Amino acid sequence: MVETDRAVIFSQKSTALKSGAFKPPTDRILILFVAAKIKEILTLGKDYQWPEPKLCPRCQVSRVWGHGFVLAYFDGLREGLWLKRYRCPSCRCVLRLRPDGYLSRFQAPLESIRFRLSHRLENGRWPPSLSRSRQGHWMRALKRKAEAYLGKSWGGSLMAAFDHLLARGRNPVSRSI
Ligand SMILES: [Zn+2]
Repeated sequence: MVETDRAVIFSQKSTALKSGAFKPPTDRILILFVAAKIKEILTLGKDYQWPEPKLCPRCQVSRVWGHGFVLAYFDGLREGLWLKRYRCPSCRCVLRLRPDGYLSRFQAPLESIRFRLSHRLENGRWPPSLSRSRQGHWMRALKRKAEAYLGKSWGGSLMAAFDHLLARGRNPVSRSI
């Protein structure tokens, strides 16, 4: 059973080209954040024992099948990590497993992004060792998202908005709304 408190569904057409006349329906990609030990994934590679969902978390109909691996790169790691994928034969969605604490399509650990934004808001300056432009990008994205999803009447702090968006399965610092 996959333990996850956040699952993000992206409407995204599969870019894989299939041969023959059969045209698959639009695939959906479901990101599952799971507790996983990054060091062990690095050491064991594709032999790492990822958790397997008993049922497809999207349609709850079928068991899921193994669907290979994707190589992903994270801040602080020189090598890529092989991340496990599953596919549901019923609804055809693809499940991508990711180590908890890393946001989809974001390579800096979530805790690090959160710490840096909070440091900037409290101290008026960025902590060192990452470019200001990159960190500024996160701040602008967070402000935009907070306004788009929570509205101008939102009375909480930006960091509360960060936590709120994340709890709803949204990436608080991505560019897209
Ligand atoms: Zn399914």
